[in-house]
Amino acid sequence: MKVLVINCGSSSLKYQVLDMTDESLLCKGLVERIGIDGSVITHEKIGMDKFKLETPMKNHKEAIGHVIDALLDANHGVIKSMDEIGAVGHRVAHAGEYYNKSVLLTPKDIENLEKCIPLAPLHNPANLTGVAACQELMPGTPMVGVFDTAFHQTMPPESYIYAIPYEYYEKYGVRRYGFHGTSHKFVVAKAAEMLGKKPEDLRIITCHLGNGASLAAVDHGKVVDTTMGFTPLEGLVMGTRSGDIDPAIVTFIEKTEKLSAEELDNILNKKSGVLGISGISSDFRDIEAEAEKGNKRAQLALDVFIHRVRHYLGAYIVEMGGVDCIVFTAGVGENDKATRINVCKGLEELGIELCEKRNDVRGEERVISTDESKVKILLIPTNEELMIARDTFNIVTGKGVK
Ligand code: ADP
Repeated sequence: MKVLVINCGSSSLKYQVLDMTDESLLCKGLVERIGIDGSVITHEKIGMDKFKLETPMKNHKEAIGHVIDALLDANHGVIKSMDEIGAVGHRVAHAGEYYNKSVLLTPKDIENLEKCIPLAPLHNPANLTGVAACQELMPGTPMVGVFDTAFHQTMPPESYIYAIPYEYYEKYGVRRYGFHGTSHKFVVAKAAEMLGKKPEDLRIITCHLGNGASLAAVDHGKVVDTTMGFTPLEGLVMGTRSGDIDPAIVTFIEKTEKLSAEELDNILNKKSGVLGISGISSDFRDIEAEAEKGNKRAQLALDVFIHRVRHYLGAYIVEMGGVDCIVFTAGVGENDKATRINVCKGLEELGIELCEKRNDVRGEERVISTDESKVKILLIPTNEELMIARDTFNIVTGKGVK
């Protein structure tokens, strides 16, 4: 069976088709500027050159129409008829407390996800628009929802309740949800496989360090804590997001700089993080290059980032009463050996011993701890699209998902 994976943003759409007989990727693509001048689709059949078409696309339905045309194209297409697509897996950002795993989307589920729009006002509407457009253009094809929040729903109340009046949780669902769940789930399964164990036998800390970054403590297969909260702003220092700050800073800056709530939101989400500290870039490669030239604020940004990762690493080791495995993934985690060295530095007493030689690698699945290290340290490239396709395939073939 072939599965189409759709990740729909407000003006963009990413897609992939995977053949689930061997989980191979057949094609991938991106539609940009949907509903704006200059709409464009870039399609790549694996093994062939990219194909680009600039053509007006007023809405997501038209965009998905062009995706379907590309999939069916005699030259760079990957299917002869849409019947070959057995199911569509949709990335949906927020499923609130409704779902702890992926589901086959029924009208009732869509209603539930619409109720989650206040929790993810930018993402859920776009994701649901993608579902509706696919349903219209592919009637009869099963649609599966895969949620960023689902994997974290196993967190106990002491992890997810904020110490603010309880009524905000009851009335508005203000609690910690966590994000990047699809990535954390993917690397947990892969880590267990690499160690010849089941996730249920392991205490794993997954470090998804990309532009957005989060850690998760996965105790015997269940998330017990994660660093992102009510929104993806909480927790680690990120490319442009502040992560944890004293909440009083918000009102202080609001009053002192006379800013609106929207302006503050923009500062904390888009102008903070390592960009805010360094004043240079949100990209670790730029910051590291500047730090090497002696730029003190660039070095400070890197130091603060590492400090926060280690802060949570320590917390999660205590929460789980130990750790068997630490996983590094996503842009920084996969590619930046210096970050991995600095996170693990001086932790030998905790049984965490990185092998500098094995760590001298980029984006490759491998064990990077020493043979003596009690805690296995793994580098695992994440693959959220494959995880979405797997869940989708397992649901529509009746195998079910955990
Ligand atoms: P997103 O959250 O946007 O999916 P990614 O997981 O793709 O982010 O990570 C992108 C980030 O990874 C870049 O902004 C950059 O900081 C970092 N990165 C990529 N390659 C390297 C590298 N070789 N060294 C250091 N950082 C890197």
